[in-house]
Amino acid sequence: MSFVFSPAAVVSVPVVGSAARFPVRRVYCVGRNYEEHAKEMGFTGREPPFFFLKPADAVVPVEAGQTGQIAYPTLTKNFHHEIELVVAIGTGGSHIQAADAHKHIFGYAVGLDMTRRDLQGEMKKQGRPWCIGKAFDQSAPIGPITPAAQVPDVAQAEIAVQVGGVDRQRSNVSKLIWNIGETIEHLSAAWELQPGDLIYTGTPEGVAAVVVGDVMVGTVAGLETLTVKVV
Ligand code: MN
Repeated sequence: MSFVFSPAAVVSVPVVGSAARFPVRRVYCVGRNYEEHAKEMGFTGREPPFFFLKPADAVVPVEAGQTGQIAYPTLTKNFHHEIELVVAIGTGGSHIQAADAHKHIFGYAVGLDMTRRDLQGEMKKQGRPWCIGKAFDQSAPIGPITPAAQVPDVAQAEIAVQVGGVDRQRSNVSKLIWNIGETIEHLSAAWELQPGDLIYTGTPEGVAAVVVGDVMVGTVAGLETLTVKVV
């Protein structure tokens, strides 16, 4: 088969302990999945999980030990970090039960769900889609994926992001409203998951703005650190 122009390259993420990379198919994100973050966004209580997507080519893979770079995006004056545990799907399926979810997980990584908060807020107010606030270019930095077998305690891992060496967000994955298995159960009821899908599982409280020159250092205990500079 020939194409009228060269197709875009497959976006891929490094894998800890492997020369082979994880090819990205889709990027799913969970909204308001930590109670304290839901509160800071003006919501309370446990609502059913809801999802949005980012394009696969919004992913900015950062190699182990490197500092990734993202450009300060257009149109915003309030560019926020959201530190998140990312689940990488290795085996697809639909209607996956929470108890079986682990069979579908390839591994885990540290991710940042970067957000044009002012634009997201405007869209919310008008009842319009969040795309312009969430699904823009370079909005999904991610560090190397660690295979699941090497991180048995990820459900109890500390999660944090520092900017300029100062804590901005610090919490624990155990505080997820919908845990990893439950998230996969809900998500796979709505979409058939496939190998290569990434799930950004939600952010804890403390989301805040970054400016040009800021360096974000994101961590989830047991995973590779994600360091990203805004340029
Ligand atoms: Mn998020």
